[in-house]
Amino acid sequence: MSRFLEKPVEYLKGVGPQRADLLKKELQIFTYKDLLFHFPFRYVDRSRIYQIGEVNSDQFFIQIKGKLSPLLEAGHKRASRLIAHLKDDTGSMELVWFKGVKWVQKTLVPGVEYIAFGKPVLFNGKYNIPHPEMEPATEVTLEKLKGMQPMYNSTEKLKSHFLDSKGLGKIIRAAILEMQPQDLPEILPSDIVSKYRFPSRFQAFRDIHMPYNERQLELAKQRIKYEELFLIQIRMLAMKHGRRKQFQGFMFEKIDGLFDTFYKTCLKFDLTNAQKRVLKEIRRDVVSGSQMNRLLQGDVGSGKTIVALMTMLMAHDNGYQAALMAPTEILAQQHLQTLTEYIGQLPLRVELLTSNVKGKQRKAVLEDLAAGHIDIIIGTHALIEETVQFRNLGCVVIDEQHRFGVAQRARLWEKNAHPPHILVMTATPIPRTLAMTLYGDLDVSVIDELPPGRKPIVTQHRYDSNRLKVFQFMKDEIAKGRQVYVVYPLIKESEKLDLKDLEDGYESITRAFPLPDYRVSIVHGKMKAEDKEAEMQRFVKGQTHIMVATTVIEVGVNVPNASIMVIENAERFGLAQLHQLRGRVGRGAEQSYCILMSSNKLTNDARARIDTMVRTNDGFEIAETDLQLRGPGDMEGTQQSGVLNLLLADIGKDANILQAARKDAEEVLQADPGLNLAQNQPLLKHLARIYKDQPDWSKIS
Ligand code: ADP
Ligand code: MG
Repeated sequence: MSRFLEKPVEYLKGVGPQRADLLKKELQIFTYKDLLFHFPFRYVDRSRIYQIGEVNSDQFFIQIKGKLSPLLEAGHKRASRLIAHLKDDTGSMELVWFKGVKWVQKTLVPGVEYIAFGKPVLFNGKYNIPHPEMEPATEVTLEKLKGMQPMYNSTEKLKSHFLDSKGLGKIIRAAILEMQPQDLPEILPSDIVSKYRFPSRFQAFRDIHMPYNERQLELAKQRIKYEELFLIQIRMLAMKHGRRKQFQGFMFEKIDGLFDTFYKTCLKFDLTNAQKRVLKEIRRDVVSGSQMNRLLQGDVGSGKTIVALMTMLMAHDNGYQAALMAPTEILAQQHLQTLTEYIGQLPLRVELLTSNVKGKQRKAVLEDLAAGHIDIIIGTHALIEETVQFRNLGCVVIDEQHRFGVAQRARLWEKNAHPPHILVMTATPIPRTLAMTLYGDLDVSVIDELPPGRKPIVTQHRYDSNRLKVFQFMKDEIAKGRQVYVVYPLIKESEKLDLKDLEDGYESITRAFPLPDYRVSIVHGKMKAEDKEAEMQRFVKGQTHIMVATTVIEVGVNVPNASIMVIENAERFGLAQLHQLRGRVGRGAEQSYCILMSSNKLTNDARARIDTMVRTNDGFEIAETDLQLRGPGDMEGTQQSGVLNLLLADIGKDANILQAARKDAEEVLQADPGLNLAQNQPLLKHLARIYKDQPDWSKIS
């Protein structure tokens, strides 16, 4: 990095050690570079003077011009304030000061024309501007005020040391004025810069802080966003290509063993076209000679398990063991049960390994696994413990991958000298742009089709005041032989409160659904694993009619006879979670329902979430909406990814830029895989610099 960018901020004029210290503590600004990357969050167009008559509540900071009235003191003692009015041809605006009254009185001259700059607020049905910045409206000031004024995030502490938005702007501009073009050299290949007619890197960073007009600002932003996204994409793609070259993949050439037998004799239904397509993609990977790293996205109920099984059969037919890892005990057990049913009489040994498998039994499983007597092992994160050794692990399937940290996945990966093929599955659909960024180094397959004959789930929104009607509806369905889930939110910060909600709910349900006609189960996170399991099993076996639960039942649980999902306090759930919960029903032949209960006080966002759920069953559409509502930082999986440190680009809103950046990155690497060409040297150097502290990502799938 250039010396200039590394310079500590205390060397900047007007900063000094004390303010430098505050900048570090409050905003993590250490160097000139950190200052340059402290982008404005908004701009005020000071080239425009508003008419007082057009002021409305949508406006942020504005400036108005007019003649100043005499200054009046109002209120008394602690509530005292200074009031004046500014008048133009369209109206009059109140200006008010609560502090520094003496100084204001001394400097402002009634009868003179001023420009007042500030944020209008509505008070008692009228607008006023508290603490406006005042400048006499002379020719000189009018000229000086032209242009866009950046607004910066600051903190209370910094503000008390004159580093408010304006103060920060001052020192940032001072740094920029010291900067020479060679201090911020170009890093993008010149073809790209000219293709989009981007400003140079130097110019873009200058313009984003000191734009002369709207258009110049827009160009600077586009360029900086593009750069952020391009760097991530080139890194992701380099990882993918690097891994391809570096590691040989096991060859699963044979499929004439159990894979074939299973397909011809065990499979009780036709695969959907989407399932067939995905299996072909996987098959291509496992005979390519490279390690497979594939993400399989498919909505709940789309039939990922069968794809997982058939992938593992490919491993088996070629003499390798396979592992299936699930995020919870219950899910691992269900997988065992499902796979056992699917494979029927096939000569395959499938075992379970979770933290509940203990003592002699555990020892036996571990020994048999190491000796290669077990063909498929199903488990939880217990699978990644040191003590678990395989004879020849050829393939790993990871279900609900977003539940596992990157490091955990990497450990499973390291169980072999040779990396196994890896298939990660998720039922949380991810918008395309986000997937590109989070999993840009993986190949992606999508099951975008549900097995035939499913009736779409009917989703309804009901207010708490209509609870009795909902209860009646539940009774009618139970009378037809169905089962019902009633789910309460569980939010970590208020676990006690949530448990109380759940217990109250359980009580009111047992009152409304009394014995002996109705039997009710309850499951929550505070129960012992055995008790939880026993309650689950009662419901699975149809011994109880209603399952009252927290979100512990969220993932994967399969009870085809359960056809109603009632979600209490639905306004407190995120979209992804609501969609996951809804996926618990609609698994059998009957018409299924999802009922979202809420109070009638809803925030706009909560209403948007509920409306989305009522409108569509399409997980991808829901994911897109979720991304728009929340932004990528809150999407599941993004926190642990570490790749989402985007300062300016927004994966939701800048999809076009992202797609262009991805395509360009692919082209650059295709023409020059090692970035050896002269024109790519600045880029290569920059990548080496910014990724030097990162773990070896090529080992993470
Ligand atoms: P998920 O993708 O949520 O893991 P599952 O693999 O559990 O979905 O499949 C949901 C249900 O659909 C299971 O009962 C499964 O047996 C069934 N299923 C899967 N594929 C098909 C198909 N092609 N035709 C009919 N039923 C299918
Ligand atoms: Mg599943």
